[in-house]
Amino acid sequence: MPSPILAPRGTYDLLPPASTLRASLEARMRVLAQGYGYGEIRTPIFEATELFERGVGEGTDIVEKEMYTFVDKGERRMTLRPEFTAPVVRAALEHKLFSVGPQRFFYIGPIFRYERPQKGRYRQPHQFGVECYGYAEPEADVEVISLAWQLVRSHGISDARLQLNSIGDAVCRERYREALLAYLRPLAPTLSEDSQRRLERNPLRVLDSKDPRDGEAVKNAPHMLEHLCDPCAQHFSTVRALLDALSIPYDVNPRIVRGLDYYTRTVFEIVSNSLGAQSTVCGGGRYDNLVASLGGPDVPAVGFALGIERFEMILSAGGAEPAPPRRGVQAIALGAQARARLLLLAQQLRERGTTVFMDLADRKVAAQFKLAERNGARAGVILGSDELATGELVVRDLVERSDVRLSLDDTEQIAAVLERMGA
Ligand code: ATP
Ligand code: MG
Repeated sequence: MPSPILAPRGTYDLLPPASTLRASLEARMRVLAQGYGYGEIRTPIFEATELFERGVGEGTDIVEKEMYTFVDKGERRMTLRPEFTAPVVRAALEHKLFSVGPQRFFYIGPIFRYERPQKGRYRQPHQFGVECYGYAEPEADVEVISLAWQLVRSHGISDARLQLNSIGDAVCRERYREALLAYLRPLAPTLSEDSQRRLERNPLRVLDSKDPRDGEAVKNAPHMLEHLCDPCAQHFSTVRALLDALSIPYDVNPRIVRGLDYYTRTVFEIVSNSLGAQSTVCGGGRYDNLVASLGGPDVPAVGFALGIERFEMILSAGGAEPAPPRRGVQAIALGAQARARLLLLAQQLRERGTTVFMDLADRKVAAQFKLAERNGARAGVILGSDELATGELVVRDLVERSDVRLSLDDTEQIAAVLERMGA
């Protein structure tokens, strides 16, 4: 026998009822983002490889190691999107959206990264993110941070912490780069191969390394915050004051740099202890140079990306997921004739928006009640041959365990009774 084919390593199937929980989480994310004035953007799952090479930056883990890249039949180099920001900018430029003023987008969907699968790390993870374009003001930073924070708060997540830093701009980061290089150069032999290779071109990258061999050097490295130029320092202190005014708690963590090239000034992460080693659920910041570097006008931007699997892990660790309420109706027929009649009633109820589950095989009544349990049905409508003869059916509240006999032809009344039961 041929061996069965399994899902690719690092991917997973989302089955009911987990898929229902996922769909409602996504629905809450949509409502939240729309409430802040953000509109959904959906871009293709693959793009020209060059978009990510330019947008994410060479020398990043993503571009160096993690992209799913292939050559299509037209000899074009294509890459499954490893992140959304570069595609969003590409789309906004393509549709000339930046010429009409500020833009606010959110996205939900899969990304693809060739990573070593482990707890909280997949090859097709999913992200929710928002991007705000056209505002250099610190209010925009605080708008996206407060949106992320509201998502966390509204799910009763209490162990999440917001970590904040500033990595400056082209002016002051150059000075910091020199200071960091002067500090790191003598330590170079102790660093990981990746960090040694990236040291001269982009020493900030070393700070974002996850390799334990880099830990000691990173721990004692000079901080960007001490090198901020006046405008960047001013921006950072306004962000902090606005967060205070909104009662959003945060820690300043000078070690947060974010892995991507395009960040400027504010960077932040939301971390949770319940995640273990992969503790970051949300990462974001300002990226004022990205649009121009992809050939567009000078458009400042700020946003974040949140890992949906990690968010779900926090929810299930906190036991914060309520059992879904019982809903819907199990149509229970005994015999083919009763089933044909119930099919009509089921149709009428479904047209009114009621969920109706129905077994289509000739199963005993007890087996059908078991199915009702599995479906989480709130009520049952039961039609046997006796009832069929008298023109009645039984409506049972499966939680309260009470029965009502109603006329089979009175769909109005059946619907009203089911509604009162909360089915
Ligand atoms: P990490 O440090 O965990 O590798 P990252 O810096 O690569 O994260 P970003 O590119 O900023 O992550 O993505 C934002 C969020 O998306 C992360 O904080 C995480 O929650 C989620 N994420 C990223 N990569 C993965 C992955 N391979 N599996 C699951 N979630 C992921
Ligand atoms: Mg990563």
